[in-house]
Amino acid sequence: MAKYNVQFNVDRCKGCEICVSVCPKKILKLSTSEVNAKGYHPASIIDMDSCIGCASCATMCPDCVISIYAE
Ligand code: SF4
Ligand code: SF4
Repeated sequence: MAKYNVQFNVDRCKGCEICVSVCPKKILKLSTSEVNAKGYHPASIIDMDSCIGCASCATMCPDCVISIYAE
């Protein structure tokens, strides 16, 4: 079971990929299938089990899209 739960306020995301670039585990990517309310492909997590809870993604996101919860 994943130790952390990474949640996205999807409709706030502007698809800038800053979170994707800073994640040390390389487990974030823009969704290719989903389009949010702003018309962007929002960020998503592809492997929750590999998240180390560093919160770099949440810290760097300019739009406060990401929240990290310890399970
Ligand atoms: S908390 Fe760290 S490891 Fe987990 S998704 Fe964010 S940047 Fe990646
Ligand atoms: S840094 Fe924030 S706004 Fe940019 S892609 Fe990631 S979640 Fe979306």
